[in-house]
Amino acid sequence: MFTSIYPFTQETIAEYPAHTKEQIESRLQEGWKAFAALRQAGTAQRAAWMMRVAELLKNNVTEHGTLISREMGKTLKEAKAEVLKCATTAEYYAANIDAMLQPRLITTEGKKSYAAFEPKGIILAIMPWNFPYWQVFRFAIPNLLAGNAAVLKHASNVSGCGLAIEKVFREAGFPEGAFQALLVSSKKMEPIIADPRIQGVTLTGSTPAGMSVAGLAGKYIKKTVLELGGSDPFIVLKDANLAEAAKTAVKARMQNAGQSCIAAKRWIVEQPVAEDFIQQVQSIITSLRQGDPFLPDTDTGPMARPDLADEVSKQMNQSIARGAQLLAGGEQDGCNFIPALLTGVQPGMSAFDEETFGPLAAVITANDEASAIRLANQTPFGLGASLWTKDLEKAARLATLIDSGNVFVNAMVRSDARLPFGGVKQSGYGRELSIEGTHEFLNIKTVYIQ
Ligand code: NAP
Repeated sequence: MFTSIYPFTQETIAEYPAHTKEQIESRLQEGWKAFAALRQAGTAQRAAWMMRVAELLKNNVTEHGTLISREMGKTLKEAKAEVLKCATTAEYYAANIDAMLQPRLITTEGKKSYAAFEPKGIILAIMPWNFPYWQVFRFAIPNLLAGNAAVLKHASNVSGCGLAIEKVFREAGFPEGAFQALLVSSKKMEPIIADPRIQGVTLTGSTPAGMSVAGLAGKYIKKTVLELGGSDPFIVLKDANLAEAAKTAVKARMQNAGQSCIAAKRWIVEQPVAEDFIQQVQSIITSLRQGDPFLPDTDTGPMARPDLADEVSKQMNQSIARGAQLLAGGEQDGCNFIPALLTGVQPGMSAFDEETFGPLAAVITANDEASAIRLANQTPFGLGASLWTKDLEKAARLATLIDSGNVFVNAMVRSDARLPFGGVKQSGYGRELSIEGTHEFLNIKTVYIQ
């Protein structure tokens, strides 16, 4: 049984029985039939269905947003923005998929040779609760357009979102079974990963989940894409626009109640501007309103589960015990955690060494530019770094020295439909979105004509 609990009040809002073995088998059969139908349909038809997906999301944005807020606690305005982002991404890929799938001609001594991009079967997506629509659509849109079918194992606390997304694809006209939610425990994934109809596995989630799923996928020779955790640096050099940097740092850390893989988790600030920067961010953080996700003036909602808030409290307290100072927030009551600011954070403290998945900002002071880059890379993760400086030539040079899948200069890191997204080191491998992400689960078929 999967239980959905509204985090703000802890009331149970729905219960979903797990699918039986037989139900899973019949869903995989449906998925396999749908794969044949998707292939046959061609890109123009698939794009037409995807445009209808966008329309359904836009027409029902409040209903979808409410479901997201109820299941995982983000504010309704954040939830609605997430749904609309899925809709615009559907439109973008519907318009561009044809170009992304064009065979790549390669000159050889043959009459013609090229690499073609063909679908493979059903792709299994194992997804987290923090962006319960975006993470799913980010994978599903390019894959369905390219002709793969999809099954989703969503996080246990957002089963309603998984089923609602299935309904959107069905109502949009996609063949029955093209996208299906599987209500299944994470402990029962092995037979599904092993099934020959499953031709790839994408997981967005924590590093331990990635290790476990990639191990199983390796055993059964299934390709994986892993989008895992992060402890991303937000580097503020002494020549940065401080007001802009301070405003963006707070947004990049606190949105979604701090529960984002690419949140700016470590603010690394060059010493000459550190005091000024701290004053500015402190004033913004103390003005944030935490609370009821359905009130329009709430800035940060509750965290998704009380154990997640407990963990952030623990990491904050360990850092304070090792010498960090708490300048704002940090009070916790169940899922509610008041956005907090720590300064004097250093290696050896949880706020530096670990991923903090909640509204906790950590300021680390760097003596100079070189030590800022060294501190930025002093982490097992490498997802998305943000770098602030007015010197754009220097920014381009420093960007090459940062170990991460994304570097955004004078902007917050975001997952943009047009740009490839993914990490290095323990943040995972493979890419989503753009042409690189679209090709991950395709058969890159070489055709040579003599
Ligand atoms: P999680 O506990 O790893 O869960 C993610 C998904 O994996 C859920 O569906 C979960 O199912 C499933 N899962 C967990 N252990 C599994 C196992 N051994 N075998 C098969 N499936 C398993 O992560 P989360 O707490 O939901 O999400 C937070 C983490 O995700 C953070 O570390 C965050 O940084 C990362 N994240 C990364 C990205 C990115 O793009 N790189 C984006 C968002 C989030 P159950 O719920 O049933 O356990």
